[in-house]
Amino acid sequence: MQERFGGMDADLPDAADANDATDLASSARGLYVRVALDQPIPTLFDYRYTLEAQPEIGQLVQVPFGRRSVVGLICAISSSTDVPRQRLRAAESICTDCAPLSPSWLALVNFAAEYYQRALGEVALPALPQPLRDPARWGRLLAVEPQYSLTESGRLALPAALPVRAHALRRLAEALAAQVLPAAQARALHPKANATLAQWCEAGWVTAIEGDAVPASPPVAMARTVAALASPLDAPTLTEEQGAALEQLQQVRGFAALLLYGVTGSGKTEVYLRGLAALLERDAEAQGLVLVPEINLTPQFEAAFRTRFAHLPADTIVTLHSGLAEGERARNWLAAHQGRARIVLGTRLAILASLPKLALIIVDEEHEAAYKQQEGLRYSARDLAVWRAKQLEIPVLLGSATPSLESWWQAEQGRYRKLTLSHRAVTDAVLPSVKLIDLEHEKRRGRASVDGLSQPLLAALRARLARGEQSLIFLNRRGYAPALSCDACGWVAGCPRCSAYVVLHKPERALRCHHCGWEERIPHACPECGNVDIAPLGRGTQRVEEALAAALPQARIARIDADSTRRKGTAQALFSDVHAGQIDVLVGTQMIAKGHDFQRVTLVGVLNADNALFSHDFRASERLFAQLMQVSGRAGRGGLAGEVLIQTRYARHPLYDALARHDYPGFARATLEERRQAHFPPFVYQALLRAEARTLEQALAFLHAAAAGLDGLPDGARITRYDPVPLTIVKVMHVHRAQLLIECASRAALQHTLHAWQPHLRSLKGALRWNLEVDPLDI
Ligand code: ADP
Ligand code: ZN
Ligand code: ZN
Repeated sequence: MQERFGGMDADLPDAADANDATDLASSARGLYVRVALDQPIPTLFDYRYTLEAQPEIGQLVQVPFGRRSVVGLICAISSSTDVPRQRLRAAESICTDCAPLSPSWLALVNFAAEYYQRALGEVALPALPQPLRDPARWGRLLAVEPQYSLTESGRLALPAALPVRAHALRRLAEALAAQVLPAAQARALHPKANATLAQWCEAGWVTAIEGDAVPASPPVAMARTVAALASPLDAPTLTEEQGAALEQLQQVRGFAALLLYGVTGSGKTEVYLRGLAALLERDAEAQGLVLVPEINLTPQFEAAFRTRFAHLPADTIVTLHSGLAEGERARNWLAAHQGRARIVLGTRLAILASLPKLALIIVDEEHEAAYKQQEGLRYSARDLAVWRAKQLEIPVLLGSATPSLESWWQAEQGRYRKLTLSHRAVTDAVLPSVKLIDLEHEKRRGRASVDGLSQPLLAALRARLARGEQSLIFLNRRGYAPALSCDACGWVAGCPRCSAYVVLHKPERALRCHHCGWEERIPHACPECGNVDIAPLGRGTQRVEEALAAALPQARIARIDADSTRRKGTAQALFSDVHAGQIDVLVGTQMIAKGHDFQRVTLVGVLNADNALFSHDFRASERLFAQLMQVSGRAGRGGLAGEVLIQTRYARHPLYDALARHDYPGFARATLEERRQAHFPPFVYQALLRAEARTLEQALAFLHAAAAGLDGLPDGARITRYDPVPLTIVKVMHVHRAQLLIECASRAALQHTLHAWQPHLRSLKGALRWNLEVDPLDI
C-alpha cells in the first residue's frame, strides 16, 4: 500500500478532474456510479454507466483514471451527478463473476477508513485478492476447477511409478483410486497437486473432467453426521474450566467480547475447536473466523483444525495469509465470499475478508503486536475484530495467557467478559518453576559467567543432557554480536545509510544493518586507527550457539532465528528435529516461543532480558512479560516438570517477581496503575504523525507546522500535543524520521480532531512523506 506524499498531493487530480473531458454526448439524465478508488483522496469518483449488466453496489468496475485504467468499487448508484457532463467519463467494464460485496462488508471497510484516517478505496481495494483487481482475469475467477479420475493405465502404472517414501504423492494416488477427485481436495492432500496432476494427465494416467460433467462423489467420511462434531471421538474430555468457558460462549446471543485468559498449555485451542464445531452444528451456513498472529510459525495449530474437521469437504477450512500464492489466496478468499468455506484461518489481513455468514470471531494470542499492520493502512486486526463482532451482533473470543493491557482493562471494567483457564489441561502438567539467576551475586561469589552463560545455567543444561531431556535458550537478538568495536580508539562499526550500528554475523563473515539490509565484509583492522584488535561487543544467538557448543561438546545444538530460517521450510524442518528428539539444546529468538508444543523440553534459559526493563517505550515491560511467559510456557508440557532460569542483574525487579509467581493479574494491576498515573493508554487515546525527509530539519519543520494547525480546530483545546522529536534511530536508508505525538482522554474528540486536521496536513508543502497512525503501538 502506498504512503501519502505530502508534496505530491497537489499533483493528483481532484474528483472532477479524474473524469476528464472526453465525452460531450452524455445526457444530463442517466445512470451514474460512484466509485471508490485506491487513491489517497477522500472522495468517491463519479462515472457514467452505460454497460449492459445492471450495476449493483459492492461490485467492481474498471474505470479510466487519468491516463490509466483502474479497478474501483461501486459505492453508490444514482441518476444524477454534480460532475459537469463534459468531464464525465464512462465505466469500461464490470465484474459479474461473483456476488457483490455486502453492505456489512462495505460498512466494515468504511469504518476502518474513517477510524484510521484513510480514503475508503485505500482500504477496500487492497483488501481484495489481486485477481479481483485485474479486469483481464474477470470472467475466469469462478471457473469451475476440473476433477480428476484415474485411467486404466494409471491404475496399473501409477503405484509402481511412485517412490516408496513419497507419502504425500501416494496419498494422492490412493485417493484417485478411490474416487473422482476435485482439484481442491487434491491440493489438500498434496500442496503441489496441480502440477503433479498435470504431469499425470500428460502421461495418460489421469484424465481431467472439466466443469460439472461428473458430480463429485462425496468423500467417504462425509457419512459421519455433523452432529458428531460437537463431541468428536478423537477429542479429549474437557477440563472443568474449559467446559465452563465453552458454556459461557454458547450462551451468548448477539454481541459479546469474551476474554479467554488461559495460562500456557491450558487448552485454549480446544475451546476454539469446540466453539466452532458447535457453531457448524447449530447453523448449516454459519462461518467462523480464526485469527492467528503468524500462521507459518504455528503449523500445529492449522493441523489441529484440519484434523478435527477432516470429515467435512476440503474447502470447509481455508487459510488466508500473505505466504499463500496469489491464485490460492484468491481461491480461498472466494470460497469465504461465497460461503463455501465455513472456517477461515488467517493472519491479520483476514479480518477484512468477505464472510457473508460470519457468526463467530476468534483472536488467538490477542496481545500479539503482529495484529497491528505497520505500513499502509495501520490497522489493528484485533480492534477491527471487536468492531466487526459488534456490527454483526455476534461473539468475539480473545484468547491469551498475557492479554494486552487494553483488553484486560476492558474486562476489569466489565465491558469484556473474562473466562479463566488457570490450570494446564494435560493431567500432571503443571506450570514450570521460574527462578532467577542473580548475575551480580554470582560475580560477588567469584563465579563469573563464561561467554555469557552463568554457572547455574550451565549446570542445569548438563543435568538435562544427562537425563536425555531438551532445553531452550532464549535471547532476543540475532546475529553474532550487536556491534563490532575498536578498543584503542572507540570506533564502532556503523551503517553508512542509517544512524545505527551494524550487527556482526560470523558464519556469513559479514556486518549487516538490521534496519536497511546493508552488508559489508568484516574489516581486518579498525578503519580509523589501523588497530587489528577489533572485537565483538555483546551477544547474539550465533555467539551463544558457539559458546554452548564449546561448553557442551557432546550436545546436539540448533539455532532458530530469522537468519537460520531464511530459506522456506527450514524453520519447519528444525522444529520437527526438535520434536523428533534429535536436538538437545535449541537456541533462538522469540520464534522459538511461538505456539510449539514441545513434549520433552524441561528447561528454558533466558539471556539478556534486562534490556527491556529500562526502555523509553512504555509498552516494553508489557511485551517483555508476555514474551517471557510465552517462552516459559514451552517448558514442562509433556508431564515432565519444567524449570525456567532467567539470568538477570536486577533480581529484585517486580516484573520478574510477578513472573516467578505466574501472576499476570498482579503484573497487570501494577502496570495499569502506573499507566493511569502517567496518563498512558489505555487511559488516553493517541495518534502519531510521522514525517520522513532528506534532512531532520525538514521533517521537524513539517511537524511544527502540522502542530500549529491544531490550534483553532473544534476540539483542539482538548488535545495534548508533545514536541516533535526525532525517532530513536533517526536515519534509515538516508531518510530522516521524526514524529509528533498527540493524545486525548476522549476517543471521539481525538477522532473529530484528526478528521478536521487532515485538510491542513494535506495543504502543507514540502518534499517529504508523512503518515498518520491511530492507536500506535511503537512510540
Ligand atoms: P494453550 O493454547 O492454552 O497454550 P493448547 O491449546 O496448546 O494450550 O493445549 C495444550 C495441550 O493440552 C495440547 O497438547 C492439547 O492437546 C492438550 N489438551 C487440551 N485440552 C485438553 C483436555 N481437556 N484434556 C487433555 N489434554 C488437553
Ligand atoms: Zn580504532
Ligand atoms: Zn542501514
